[in-house]
Amino acid sequence: MARAINFSAGPAALPESVLSQAAAEMLDWHGSGMGVMEMSHRGKEFVAIHSEAEADLRELMSIPANYKVLFLQGGAIAENAIVPMNMLRGGKSADYVNTGEWSKKSIKEAKKYCTVNVAASSEDRNFAYIPSQDTWKLSKDAAYVHICSNETIGGLEYHWVPQTGDVPLVADMSSHILSRPVDVSKYGLIYGGAQKNIGPAGLTIVIVRDDLIGQALPITPSAFDYKQQADNDSMLNTPPTYGIYIAGLVFKWLKQQGGLIEIEKRNIEKSNLLYDYLDASKFFVSPIDKRDRSRMNVPFKLKDESLDGEFLKGAEARGMVQLKGHRAVGGMRASIYNAMPLDGVRKLVEYMREFEAQKA
Ligand SMILES: *Cc1c(COP(=O)(O)O)cnc(C)c1O
Repeated sequence: MARAINFSAGPAALPESVLSQAAAEMLDWHGSGMGVMEMSHRGKEFVAIHSEAEADLRELMSIPANYKVLFLQGGAIAENAIVPMNMLRGGKSADYVNTGEWSKKSIKEAKKYCTVNVAASSEDRNFAYIPSQDTWKLSKDAAYVHICSNETIGGLEYHWVPQTGDVPLVADMSSHILSRPVDVSKYGLIYGGAQKNIGPAGLTIVIVRDDLIGQALPITPSAFDYKQQADNDSMLNTPPTYGIYIAGLVFKWLKQQGGLIEIEKRNIEKSNLLYDYLDASKFFVSPIDKRDRSRMNVPFKLKDESLDGEFLKGAEARGMVQLKGHRAVGGMRASIYNAMPLDGVRKLVEYMREFEAQKA
C-alpha cells in the first residue's frame, strides 16, 4: 500500500499510527464486542472515551479549570453564527479583524445577529499581512473581539496574542489548533473544526471561559447553546462519537510526540524548510509578509502561471497530492499540519528545486 504525501488543507492527513489503531479497533473496541460507531453515547465505554479525550486535550493545551471544553457538531462555519448568539450577552455589537477569506465569512454571518465593527483589515494589500494592533480601531461597547488566528486559504498566522482588555478575545483556530502551545487564559473563546489538524470532519471543539456562558440569545437552538451543552457534558444531542474517538487517539499521539512544545519545534522546522526555499528561489514566490506567515498553510506561486498545470502533474506523479491553491487565491498551497512528516516537506522542496532547475 502506498500512502500519498497529502498536502490537503482539510479534511487532511492523519497520523498513520492513529489510522492503524482505529482500523484494528473497528469491529471490537477493547473487548467490548462493539465498534465505537456502534456504541451508545451514554454507555460506559463511550463515556470513558469522551472523558479521556477531554482530559488529554486539557493536559495538552493546559486549559484552566474555569474553561469549559465542548465537543459539538456544525463546524467552524456554524460557529460563525453560534458565537454571536452566545457571546453578545446583551450587547449589540462586536469587533472583527478582517485578514482574509475565513474572517470575511465570519463577519458576513455575524452581521445577521449584531452590528459588526471591522476594527482592522488587510484587504488593502490583498491579505498579505496581519494588521498590527496599534492600527486597530476597537470599540468600547463591543461584546467581543473576533480574529481568525490562522487563515487557512491565505496563509496568515498570528504569532502574537491581541490585547483586548476586559473585552473577550474570540479566535477561530480551526487550522492551527494544537500546532503550538497557546495561553488559553488570554482568550474568552477558542473554536475550531477538527478536520484540519485533529481528526475527522463533523467534530467541532469549543473552549470557553465559564463566566461568559448562560446568556445566549433566546432564538439560539438548544444544541448550540454553550451553557446547555456544558451542563450536559456536550450530550444535549448525540455528539459526533466517532470523531471524538479519533480526536482522542490524536491527542494520545501528540502526547507521545512530546506535546505541543515538541510539535511546535517540528512545525517551525518544516515550515522554515519550505519558506527558506521559496525566499531563495527565483521561480517560486511566497505572497505573504515574512512575520505573518502560517506554519500550517503555505501558499506559493509560480512566477510563470502557465506552468501551474505541469507542476501539479509532476507532483502527482511523485505521490504528492492536493497542492492546488484555493480557487479564491489561485497558485499553490501546501498544508503541512502536525501529521505531515518532515520527510514529506523535504520531498516537496526537492521536487520544486528540480522543477525550477529544469524550467528556469
Ligand atoms: C476550514 C475552516 C473553516 C470552515 O470549517 P467547516 O467545517 O467547513 O465549517 C472555518 N474557519 C477556518 C479558519 C477554517 O480553516
